[in-house]
Amino acid sequence: MSVTTYPISPETVQHVNRPVFGHVIDNEIVPSADGRTMPVIDPATGEEVAVAAVASAADVDRAVISARRAFDDGRWRFQTPLDRERCLRRMSTLLAERATTFAESDTIDSGLLRWYTDGMVDFALNSIDYFAGWPTKIEGSIPPVPADLVAYQVREPHGVLGLIVPWNGPTAVFAFAAAAIAAGNCVVLKPAEQTPMTAVLMAEVARDAGLPPGVFNIVQGAGEAGAALVEHPGVDMISFTGSRPTGAAIQAAAAKGVKPVQLELGGKSPFIIFPDADLEAASAAAMMGVWMASGQVCTAGTRVLLHDSIHDEVVERIVSGSRDMVIGSGFDPATQLGPLVSAAQLERVMHYVSIGQDEGAELALGGHRHGDVGFFHEPTVFTGVRNDMRIAQEEIFGPVMSVLRFSSEAEAYAIANDSEYGLGAGVWTNDLATAHRASRALRTGQVWVNTYQMGYPTVAYGGVKASGHGRMQGRATIEELTHVKSVWMKVGEPVGHDPRSVTL
Ligand code: ADP
Repeated sequence: MSVTTYPISPETVQHVNRPVFGHVIDNEIVPSADGRTMPVIDPATGEEVAVAAVASAADVDRAVISARRAFDDGRWRFQTPLDRERCLRRMSTLLAERATTFAESDTIDSGLLRWYTDGMVDFALNSIDYFAGWPTKIEGSIPPVPADLVAYQVREPHGVLGLIVPWNGPTAVFAFAAAAIAAGNCVVLKPAEQTPMTAVLMAEVARDAGLPPGVFNIVQGAGEAGAALVEHPGVDMISFTGSRPTGAAIQAAAAKGVKPVQLELGGKSPFIIFPDADLEAASAAAMMGVWMASGQVCTAGTRVLLHDSIHDEVVERIVSGSRDMVIGSGFDPATQLGPLVSAAQLERVMHYVSIGQDEGAELALGGHRHGDVGFFHEPTVFTGVRNDMRIAQEEIFGPVMSVLRFSSEAEAYAIANDSEYGLGAGVWTNDLATAHRASRALRTGQVWVNTYQMGYPTVAYGGVKASGHGRMQGRATIEELTHVKSVWMKVGEPVGHDPRSVTL
């Protein structure tokens, strides 16, 4: 099968030409028990390039039993902390060696541009390297207690983590799986149905690095497989990144089993430009904030809030800077805007564009599908947007920017916070006090000042309000992926101490 007309490495060709992208259970790649498969579509061409297995409840059960066994017999969590660190470091070395295959595979099934998929590999490498240092550093504490007792607190892994993820960062997901494993958990990962390819590569990296069977299992499939994983009694905790409605359904389903849930559910992030900002840099960042990955990024700054005094100038910069973007395959180095991930996502974007027009917003740029091959959409800018419009309130996950106006600082924060979401926020100002006031005023998990979408493995990442709860990255992740166990011991009174002499 011809995968793409662009040159790709022989290793990627071999990887993509697997007969089926299977599940990975006990370090073995296996088909579904009932043989069910789904097509893998290249969004740049709309053509089928591979097939992947679809898990039924029976396959999910097999994967969970394997992970349960691996957790319960302690084959991973009771290895010495240094051995666990060495294993994670080998994972990072192998990922670096196979980086091109990861990045090319992600571009084939997600359509994301090659520089972006390279970036995701770097992100995963950084995170794995960071989390590889944790097994020797997850320390407990010894709180003061009455003299006849000793108590200590240790952090223990939750157990089996069901990890359900979307398509927009297939290799980046490796970072959170590594964090879970570093904390001593066993993982069953369900990749998105649109992007099944790199999960198999991750499992191979984990296996070749010496991770024991069952510690990192993969089940392929769509919502049905995800739901079976959430409901499985052998799963102790759920981590989900994806859309708000699915996240809410998962939290409700997990509640039946009283399971902890970590959720990252996207957003409608405000990107505020004050009049004193560097308008050239701010406009470029505003474009990148929505066009990157064709807007399929949870933190996309899709609500661009402009002060009245600079509104027209910034809109002009954005429109003229975006008008001639090169739209095409993620493999073409000239491409600036790639496809959406699927026909369904393209439909969704076109639907929201027509909603915006019906609501009375003004189309300043774009607004149409691009070409008739693959799932491309023009960069699209709406001006005259009111914050109560659906295009300002609902996450579109496409290259659609909504521009809103404000006339005072207080109004900017009021508009920014008038959203059920609270993931990211961008603030552009050269005034230190404004930057600090904005950072305090905005109800979001991240605030970026004079930059946007920066991240580093040492720094927590996550949302508030309907953007979810719980944190990925940094020390907060290790806390998220462990619980505190308190151990009490009666040791009697200290020798030589007479408790009767104590007066209160
Ligand atoms: P989208 O519909 O935009 O692809 P979703 O949030 O529905 O995004 O999907 C994100 C992930 O959640 C995917 O891996 C998908 O298969 C999975 N998923 C979808 N529905 C459910 C569900 N009811 N329970 C568990 N996982 C689900």
